[in-house]
Amino acid sequence: MSVSIAIVGAGPAGFYAAAALIKSDADCRVDMIEALPTPFGLVRAGVAPDHQSTKGVIRAFAKTAADPRVAFFGNVRLGQDVSLAELRKLYDTVILAVGAPVDRSLGIPGGDLRGVYGAAAFVGWYNGHPRFGDLAPDLETPSVCVIGNGNVALDVARVLVKTPEEMSASDLADHAARTIHGAPIRDVYVIGRRGPVEAKFTNKELSELGDLGGCVPLVDPAQLTAEVPADLSDRDRRQREKNLATLREFAGRRPDEKPKRLHFVFYARPAAVLGEERVTALRLERTRVEGGRAVGTGETIDVPCGAVIAAIGYRMEEIEGVPMEPGAGVVRNDEGRVDNGLYVVGWARRGPTGVIGTNKADGDLVAARIAKENAAGGKPGRAGLEASLRARGVRWVSFAAWRRIDAAEVAAAPPGAPRRKLIRIKDMLDILENGAATVTKM
Ligand code: NAP
Repeated sequence: MSVSIAIVGAGPAGFYAAAALIKSDADCRVDMIEALPTPFGLVRAGVAPDHQSTKGVIRAFAKTAADPRVAFFGNVRLGQDVSLAELRKLYDTVILAVGAPVDRSLGIPGGDLRGVYGAAAFVGWYNGHPRFGDLAPDLETPSVCVIGNGNVALDVARVLVKTPEEMSASDLADHAARTIHGAPIRDVYVIGRRGPVEAKFTNKELSELGDLGGCVPLVDPAQLTAEVPADLSDRDRRQREKNLATLREFAGRRPDEKPKRLHFVFYARPAAVLGEERVTALRLERTRVEGGRAVGTGETIDVPCGAVIAAIGYRMEEIEGVPMEPGAGVVRNDEGRVDNGLYVVGWARRGPTGVIGTNKADGDLVAARIAKENAAGGKPGRAGLEASLRARGVRWVSFAAWRRIDAAEVAAAPPGAPRRKLIRIKDMLDILENGAATVTKM
């Protein structure tokens, strides 16, 4: 009897797990349950809109979805349309692939002022994620601070300073294009609490900033004197040496080369967001790095700005009945196993690090464990879920239905762009009801 498996979340972690399961010899049926009508998680709503080549992995995911053993249940929200307890009753095995969709908090005075946004929300907004469609960030300012020295901070900074022409082959959401390209932004500050050697940027993403059409990257050469520690792996050392070389090149650039400037500010940790009703400046405390940690010096500087975007990492949303690892923001698990018949993969398992492909190993690991531990089938699986959703009047979106939404987005694309994203779930469902969306004005 085939084993019924539910995967909650249809992002990279969910798709790699599904692919590993159908590749293994296990006789299984795999149902992917996703809150949005759209699949692919962060590949659609996290990967930067101007990094279309990274989104090519969707082709492999679509192949997995097309396997007759796999079904997609989009527009089905865990905890609202179906509970975890119910899924565990209906399926022999449940895999949580829910990611880390919310922002970690800055935890400094003024952190909740108007004009302060977390990167999960901000990136979701410019990528057309329905949850953040109404964010309406106020970017009516010449100067924006982006906190964090990871690739998300670079994505945000780059999207803010690229010209409309540079974004024309992207799928930047319409509302975001209007706001960003209509904004008077001239200076973007990318702020690291440690030094250039500790920054988590990958070099490809960092060096890309040296070739922007309308923006010059700048850094104070006095901040580039630290040496790359000798005790790193060869790979890490090479990466950091390349970053230092790129930053040294940026240090020789002239501020008046281009209309906009992207400033790297190292050794500065956020101390407070200043302003009455909205942000007017970010107060930073100067740091030095001791034993790899940022230590405050007591000296502060204020960077005048009208918006602050904190790209300081993501966390998962807790799920009722699922144990969390104290202080780590991930599901407590033993190599992917949470409990009998319950597993976890991706960022919910190991935290928000790594690239899309990192999830493949997670999928392989869990598929191998499931093959070993859950030989018996017998639970109702797909038929049970469909009956339960029907009884509740939940309108789920199949993969074939998603393809119709996809086709409508592609057909509506402006010249040169891959698609024009629909932002409202209602508009997506309208495509399925009426063949055309009555696109909600945003
Ligand atoms: P990340 O790489 O972990 O970077 C987070 C940054 O936030 C670090 O510089 C960290 O500094 C800083 N930070 C954390 N708490 C802070 C605080 N309270 N105050 C000031 N700074 C703080 O995370 P991410 O940028 O969110 O990216 C998540 C993952 O997605 C990463 O693995 C990333 O490489 C990947 N990603 C890849 C791409 C790409 O390949 N193009 C694009 C986007 C994301 P410390 O180091 O001092 O803790």
